[in-house]
Amino acid sequence: MKPLTATHVKYYHLCRRKLWLFDRDVWMEHTSEAVAAGELLHRTAYPQRAERYREISLGGSKIDFYDPQRKVVHELKKSNKMEASNVAQVKYYLWLLEEHGVDGPTAILEYPKLRQTQTVALSDEDRARIPDELAALRALLADGTACPPVLHKPFCQQCAYYEFCYVAE
Ligand code: SF4
Repeated sequence: MKPLTATHVKYYHLCRRKLWLFDRDVWMEHTSEAVAAGELLHRTAYPQRAERYREISLGGSKIDFYDPQRKVVHELKKSNKMEASNVAQVKYYLWLLEEHGVDGPTAILEYPKLRQTQTVALSDEDRARIPDELAALRALLADGTACPPVLHKPFCQQCAYYEFCYVAE
């Protein structure tokens, strides 16, 4: 099993099958239009951003836009349809920052196409929950069982693994 990353945490909240495939290095992201659109958004949404923010690596995860002076993580997303998994991802970043001695970091989820932002902070409940969740995630991935079943959710059509999951159906 690879070191856990924010992507593991995000997929844990989104789809256990996607998490399982990702952890086993089944990659289809390069064929996904949704992923390509996300990468384009990161490159073009805020051209001035590279000067203002830092890219940092923490515990195997990479935070693309971190403001070290204000201790704010900025995370760009195309859409707020997956809000719960987006929030789980940035809360994991905040937890990692606290684990590395940063006091009181916060995050802003940014949806440039919707012109919306969402501020995210860690609660004491999150601080208690996240280590338990990481232990459950590790146990799930260490379990030798087969790939979890297809979710059959509307958002499957936007998933990079859509063809993989639905090719036999
Ligand atoms: S297509 Fe659906 S079931 Fe398959 S990995 Fe993606 S979200 Fe999960």
